[in-house]
Amino acid sequence: MPAVQRLCILGSTGSIGVSTLDVVARHPDRLSVYALSAHSRIEALAAQAVRHQARVVIVPDDAARARFIAAWPAGRSLPEIRQGAQALADTAADPEVTAVMAAIVGAAGLPGALAAARAGKRVLLANKEALVAAGALFMQAVRDSGAELLPIDSEHNAIFQCLPQSTDRARAPDRPAPGVRRLLLTASGGPFRCTALDQLEHVTPDQACAHPNWRMGRKISVDSATMLNKGLEVIEAHWLFAMPLERIQVVIHPQSVVHSMVEYADGSILAQLGQPDMRTAIAYGLGYPDRIDSGVGLLELTRLGRLDFETPDLRRFPCLRLSLDALEKGQGACITLNAANEVAVDGFLHGRIRYTQIPDIIARCLDDSATSSVRMPTSLDEVLDLDARTRRMASGFCESVS
Ligand code: NAD
Ligand code: MG
Repeated sequence: MPAVQRLCILGSTGSIGVSTLDVVARHPDRLSVYALSAHSRIEALAAQAVRHQARVVIVPDDAARARFIAAWPAGRSLPEIRQGAQALADTAADPEVTAVMAAIVGAAGLPGALAAARAGKRVLLANKEALVAAGALFMQAVRDSGAELLPIDSEHNAIFQCLPQSTDRARAPDRPAPGVRRLLLTASGGPFRCTALDQLEHVTPDQACAHPNWRMGRKISVDSATMLNKGLEVIEAHWLFAMPLERIQVVIHPQSVVHSMVEYADGSILAQLGQPDMRTAIAYGLGYPDRIDSGVGLLELTRLGRLDFETPDLRRFPCLRLSLDALEKGQGACITLNAANEVAVDGFLHGRIRYTQIPDIIARCLDDSATSSVRMPTSLDEVLDLDARTRRMASGFCESVS
């Protein structure tokens, strides 16, 4: 009988958080909730805390605390309410916690994910931005503490499953796994894979968020449309699997059934297939090394009929090219890429800039010599400082074009 995991779910009200709780509810014998966090949707957080008997909740500020208490059912004892960004990191490192689901969106998720890694937890990493902004620091923390790092992003989870089955797979590697030639990262191509290029200027946030295969939060949905998401994932794969850029290939696969592949020296390619439902990857991380029920239905290959693969067109997806360039330039450029993108996507989602201006804003920030001069930050503060400077610059560019 496996020991019961006591979970801290950072970002429990988001798309990944909700899917995680769905899997948790299927396994009361092996999974329990210790802490939940949310930044908005505080009433939903209260409902989750009741349903899963959370001992701790983390909210951003006084107003959210008051909303949480108001939403709490009378006569039931309140969980401990912790507050503010520091509480996210402290709770991730709490001795009561055995596993942390890092599912906050954006660089805001970095301090909590890093604290979990430093504290030697089982880290279920959905928050790819943490690795983009601080890959070297994060992987070093995993190595130093002996944390167990399980990728939740579907592509990286697929690759993890297809890599050689050594016993220390969940410890941060410092070189590519033996016998592996390349990682093949699949991408759906998003909602605009076939849209006429001259129409892209006019697309709306709702069109950009209407992903053909996956239901996700709005930021990652826009990133999938621009394929900046795949760029972040190349950087994520580079750090997770110690793989150089030239050995990571992006392949468009519109059906999102092959979640990614590993190519070996002997010509074999191993793939992981499944429904486009994040609960498979989440259940893999929660149950590891056992396989547990995720609630995901069967994949009927005969009904699917065919699987297609294409090369991405970098003219259609300039954000992918910018990401690959940033990885080549170094960590400072990756921090800039990520922060500028967060600001630009927010600007697009709120009608301040057009869809096609997202790559322009990122490119202008990357051109600034101050941002690209940081090569390898040695502390979290240094990362957050460049992140904040880039956000100010990107906000200025958004204002000047709107
Ligand atoms: P989401 O927008 O649905 O949820 C984000 C969660 O983070 C919410 O609980 C929100 O309250 C919290 N949050 C937002 N801003 C915060 C802040 N400043 N401080 C603290 N908490 C904050 O996002 P999502 O789609 O669930 O994605 C979460 C992460 O997982 C992202 O990094 C994304 O790239 C990654 N991911 C998501 C999917 C998916 O299918 N949704 C797949 C792969 C990877
Ligand atoms: Mg992904």
